[in-house]
Amino acid sequence: MKISLIAHDKKKQDMVQFTTAYQPVLKNHTLYATGTTGMKIREATGLDVHRFQSGPLGGDQQIGALIADNDMDMVIFFRDPLTAQPHEPDISALIRLCDVYAIPLATNMASAEILMHALSRGDFAWRNIIRNKKDD
Ligand code: PGA
Repeated sequence: MKISLIAHDKKKQDMVQFTTAYQPVLKNHTLYATGTTGMKIREATGLDVHRFQSGPLGGDQQIGALIADNDMDMVIFFRDPLTAQPHEPDISALIRLCDVYAIPLATNMASAEILMHALSRGDFAWRNIIRNKKDD
């Protein structure tokens, strides 16, 4: 599975804890992240993470582009709901695309843990069937 990991600045510590705890699950998947989040995950866990641009510089849009191509299977996005973000339109667009393409999305630790358990159980195997299928 292709999994994207994104955390706003005040949630980066949560993301480090989350990826440390679920490293045994995550290591079996292909990981993507926005720039700074990816760097922190790599430093803390040693996980191999492909890093896009930092979120405010277009990273969310790069992940959105993969979703639009049906080439992303899950998004873990620890948003900071209490701080205004300069790239709010990009954040809304990314979340919107997850809904357009029915991509599993968790925006906080509690939901993300449920997704990890489901992932370990194989609940997302359906993604292997529909990934890269285009409607044309
Ligand atoms: P970052 O981007 O991982 O580069 O900090 C995340 C964000 O703020 O959207």
